Amino acid sequence: MKTETHDVVIVGAGLAGLSTAVFLALNGVRAVVIERNASTSILPKARGQNPVSMEMLRMAGITDAIRAARPPGKPAITSLVSESLTGRVIYDHIAHRPDFSRFSPEIPGMASQARAEEALLQRARELGVDVRFQWTCERIEENDERVALELRDLQADAAFQISAKYVVACDGIRGAIAGQVGIGHHGVGHLKSVTAVRFNADLSRWAGGNSMTIHYVKNPALPDGSGILVSTDYENQWVGNFSADPDRTPEETRRLIRILLGLDDIDFEVTGETTYNYSHRIADRLSSRRVFLAGDAAHVMPPTGGQGGNTAMQDGFYLGWKLAYVLRGIAGPALLESYDVERRPYAEIVCTWQAANLAERRDMKNLGTLLGEPIDHARMMFGYMCVDGAFVRSSGQTTVSAADPFEDPSRPTGMPGARVPYALLQAGADVINTRHQLAPRFQLYTADARMASQAQAIAQDKAVPQQVTVVDSVAPIQLDAGESMLVRPDGVVAWRGRSADALAQAYDRVLARA
Ligand SMILES: Cc1cc2nc3c(=O)[nH]c(=O)nc-3n(C[C@H](O)[C@H](O)[C@H](O)COP(=O)(O)OP(=O)(O)OC[C@H]3O[C@@H](n4cnc5c(N)ncnc54)[C@H](O)[C@@H]3O)c2cc1C
Repeated sequence: MKTETHDVVIVGAGLAGLSTAVFLALNGVRAVVIERNASTSILPKARGQNPVSMEMLRMAGITDAIRAARPPGKPAITSLVSESLTGRVIYDHIAHRPDFSRFSPEIPGMASQARAEEALLQRARELGVDVRFQWTCERIEENDERVALELRDLQADAAFQISAKYVVACDGIRGAIAGQVGIGHHGVGHLKSVTAVRFNADLSRWAGGNSMTIHYVKNPALPDGSGILVSTDYENQWVGNFSADPDRTPEETRRLIRILLGLDDIDFEVTGETTYNYSHRIADRLSSRRVFLAGDAAHVMPPTGGQGGNTAMQDGFYLGWKLAYVLRGIAGPALLESYDVERRPYAEIVCTWQAANLAERRDMKNLGTLLGEPIDHARMMFGYMCVDGAFVRSSGQTTVSAADPFEDPSRPTGMPGARVPYALLQAGADVINTRHQLAPRFQLYTADARMASQAQAIAQDKAVPQQVTVVDSVAPIQLDAGESMLVRPDGVVAWRGRSADALAQAYDRVLARA
């Protein structure tokens, strides 16, 4: 049997797998990606990229592709709770959404999952990633040194083995790898079985012509009193979602679509349907010895709130640089332990948030009581602070509570473990946008020219990729005069302080160098 050896194998070429491949490659490591299907996703699933995802996609150089790929219509989103497409509006999510432009320079993208995956795939291939479609991973086994993968090339119907240093399991909701390395899951579990019916209808008269339209319909005439109507990537193609019923007839399905639309005499053509489950499920750990979980393999949430695909992509962003730095010898292997420590609390929160949204938008009151109140959208996206992980806490810095690991994004602290505040910094004649500075290297902000040259020497000595930006004032990033800030490649503040010695020690701690 043919055997290959690689540094990293990624199983699954969905949003999580392709994003991991891209961010690994940008940081200097080319993975092999194994995908069972013949192509990336073709079903209308996740829609939209939040500003945090757009910041990281900008670093990958694909925001233009994402923006160009938006579905037809005005570049705007409608998201309503209503009695039907044409009926009374109960709540307007967009009207009540905070102004995100205070927290990020990026506006949300509107590409579908299919288009986002295409853009990521193209970028991964440009970066030299080996993506193999119609390959399946049948089993993996890890020891302290390596991971053995038993694979099958489905086209050639041939067995194949790869020995890898690390595996990233991006194998989705039904992925088997977590179980094979002994990682269990917890959560509320199955929430609801839903049938998604695709249909074609010209609804332009009622839908307002935005590129993305979602109605969470509350109507006692629907099964369980609710359903979802959502536009897709294709002009006049819509999806109606309602509680699944295996005995439902095609006539009954058409009647339910009319209720979603609030139109008795509209002409439409049903083109297909899929039944799938809403679940709330989080992995007990995001990693074992040499295997990491990302995307739905790590956290499954109902679609209410649109963070499933976003969180899947973001996992790759937060994991990619760490894996690459360890493989390149820049960091010690213990850096990898921080992936679980930093990202699992976020996974727990975002899954619970979406399930709580489901409770509210689809009248599943029991679930709401179980999960508590949904937290503020902006706080969740922009205010997350790592409770622990690869950063050096400042003296006197209060420990973040695992129960509420957030800062108020309108008053960012710039503390280690938080996201580098979005700010415009004057650097001589240049204006530096902190969130556009994200790149596959560390970033030091300082107003002290001596510190700048000492930092250059430290990074050279430690062979750490680093850029130093000398700014006129560090006040906009919440530093006191004389302080400098070190930011990780994923935009998390790693350290802030005053001396070059402390900076050198911070690098050793953050990068787990013995
Ligand atoms: C109907 C629907 C609507 C949704 N709407 C939204 C939304 O509006 N916003 C949002 O953010 N999220 C939404 N989601 C969720 C979003 O689609 C998922 O969170 C996202 O697909 C997760 O990406 P992933 O890469 O982790 O997993 P997936 O996209 O499931 O990819 C996993 C891949 O792994 C492959 N694979 C599995 N096992 C193996 C194996 N052994 N060998 C080789 N390959 C394997 C699979 O073929 C698959 O391609 C929606 C989901 C559904 C189903």
